[in-house]
Amino acid sequence: MSYIITDECIACGVCAEECPVEAISEGEDKYVIDPELCTDCGACADVCPVDAPQPGE
Ligand code: SF4
Ligand code: SF4
Repeated sequence: MSYIITDECIACGVCAEECPVEAISEGEDKYVIDPELCTDCGACADVCPVDAPQPGE
């Protein structure tokens, strides 16, 4: 299970600094989460100003 970053992302980069496993990186239009690394901790969602990271299905 992995969090995913929705299109609401404004590419501020705050979540990438908070992720304990460095699963978040800058993508083309927004930041993206590597599902192989994400541990589903929710730290990115807690700091995101626009609530873009959401629990995956
Ligand atoms: Fe990183 Fe946790 Fe967000 Fe997954 S849920 S991307 S491990 S901060
Ligand atoms: Fe995008 Fe939210 Fe991460 Fe900022 S904190 S880069 S808006 S997902």
